Amino acid sequence: MLRQWNSRTPLFGYLREQECPRCRRPVDLPLGEICTPCQRDIRRRTARIARIVALLSTVIVGAYVLLRVPADPTARLVSGAAVAIWYLLTNLVVRRVLREFLT
Ligand SMILES: [Zn+2]
Repeated sequence: MLRQWNSRTPLFGYLREQECPRCRRPVDLPLGEICTPCQRDIRRRTARIARIVALLSTVIVGAYVLLRVPADPTARLVSGAAVAIWYLLTNLVVRRVLREFLT
């Protein structure tokens, strides 16, 4: 069998966990991995926290844009799009960073 070089543990792929390192549930996993319920739990928690952080930062950026951008309709449209993009990017970045810390 060929070794998977893109594996997180390419030299120790044959080692197996007998229990999840996070919840201690008996499972059969590659070394360093966590079980599916733990992955789902982490994904749910990170999504919730990322949504809150992105919403708070978007409110702050939106208030700043509302106060600083002139009343020109084009400027309002572009700044509104920028605020929406800010929300999406903040949500993605916070979710990714939290997933790395919580895993
Ligand atoms: Zn687990």
